[in-house]
Amino acid sequence: MIPPGETIGILGGGQLGRMIALAAANLGYRCHVYAPEADSIAADVCAGFTQGDYDDEAKLAEFAQGCAVVTYEFENVAAAPLAAVAAHAPLHPPARALEAAQDRVAEKVFVEALGGRPAPWAAVDSAQDLADAAHRIGTPGVLKTRRDGYDGKGQWRIMSPADVDAVALPGKPLVYEGFVTFGAEFSVILVRGADGDVRFWDSAENVHKNGILDRSTVPACNLIAGQVDEARALAKKVAEALDYVGVLTLEFFATADGPVFNEMAPRVHNSGHWTIEGALTSQFENHVRAICGLPLGSTALAAKGVVMDNLIGDDAHDWPKILSDPANHLHLYGKAAVRPGRKMGHVTRLVL
Ligand code: AMP
Repeated sequence: MIPPGETIGILGGGQLGRMIALAAANLGYRCHVYAPEADSIAADVCAGFTQGDYDDEAKLAEFAQGCAVVTYEFENVAAAPLAAVAAHAPLHPPARALEAAQDRVAEKVFVEALGGRPAPWAAVDSAQDLADAAHRIGTPGVLKTRRDGYDGKGQWRIMSPADVDAVALPGKPLVYEGFVTFGAEFSVILVRGADGDVRFWDSAENVHKNGILDRSTVPACNLIAGQVDEARALAKKVAEALDYVGVLTLEFFATADGPVFNEMAPRVHNSGHWTIEGALTSQFENHVRAICGLPLGSTALAAKGVVMDNLIGDDAHDWPKILSDPANHLHLYGKAAVRPGRKMGHVTRLVL
């Protein structure tokens, strides 16, 4: 067990790290952020900050030496250099969770082996591969970069065979997925403790706009409610297969034929931000409890329902209006520059 007062290392300097650090501070821990950018909004609320590249093994080792445990808030960290971290401090979740989640093909192969069902897919490395994939799987479909994509970045909709010839391939490994006709989208967020204790938060119904999460609502619609058990069973298998410690997220499409696996994130997740006010223990606090070997807190709902809206780009300018309603819980991430499509904050409302 890592007792309060110790230092938790966080790889990644964004809003997820910031919210992990705030939860850790409530439990009496200090946090130290490691990130490549000079101005980290996570480091703004932490005791320590190391600016370094994710492949700088010497710097990673030095950082880890000052930490009792290290976690990450960003899954596009290369897994190999993390051996330099793991040599000096426990790394939770394990590096192999990163490996499984950061390559869309590895992720699908891994989840399929555990009985999960993604959309039909094919790896694409050339224009010919794409033509073959679109022919076999059909259009419409979505072409995605295997690595480094997030919030709809690195994705191209292929609506018809004509788009197959028109798309300019980015020269990176890709994957083509058949377009899923879904009734709704949802996520399963669980926490697994060092002792194997697994708890789930209620599944939120997630609505995306332009590939970016816009709103998470709990409770979810009936279509989702009927598919949560199957989705949870898969998420639990994933966590156990990886000997996972911490918060893990799986995203699903709820279809007429049951849950279709979309992707997983080995970390706290935007669709779980509602848990800060809406659950007895937030995803951030339980992540800290898990990686420090503390008993997990209850994931039960703290209200009849919860709605979380992301503040994207210019939405952040609406903060005076949001605060004029005393029932709103406003979270701003402290990002200096407002950019279109950038997650600037979120606002949560409880249904009491
Ligand atoms: P992703 O980054 O892969 O989660 O994609 C972002 C969003 O794009 C998803 O939450 C869906 O709304 C949409 N999307 C991605 N892949 C597909 C697909 N194969 N079929 C239908 N919609 C998709």
